[in-house]
Amino acid sequence: MDTDCIFCKIVLKQINAEIIYEDDNVLVFSDINPVSSIHKLVIPKKHVKDIKQIDDVGIIINIFDVIKKLVDDLQIDNFKIVVNNGDKLQLVKHLHFHLISGDKVTDKLI
Ligand code: 5GP
Ligand code: ZN
Repeated sequence: MDTDCIFCKIVLKQINAEIIYEDDNVLVFSDINPVSSIHKLVIPKKHVKDIKQIDDVGIIINIFDVIKKLVDDLQIDNFKIVVNNGDKLQLVKHLHFHLISGDKVTDKLI
């Protein structure tokens, strides 16, 4: 855990979030500033800064396992998974997968 990390604080329930799924390794919650009607953040509970810092690819399997369950539960077929990486793009320095679907999603590249 990183005591300065906002997503670690959500994992530790020190900051409120609309949590929609949780297991030993993965947490899913609604983005506080959604870009579309469905915008969830899927994160490893363990603090990993970004893709370059992943030391155990098992967490990616865990995350995509959860994403698959989630899209089944939410009954969505059209969705995007976005991972921002790097200082210019990634605002929260705890690896997270944006799951975006719903009204604002288009067939554009991103
Ligand atoms: P990034 O640019 O790092 O990929 O995106 C970070 C995302 O985290 C943004 O979409 C932002 O709205 C979301 N976010 C930032 N702080 C919080 C927070 O405290 N709670 C929740 N639920 N989402 C947050
Ligand atoms: Zn963290």
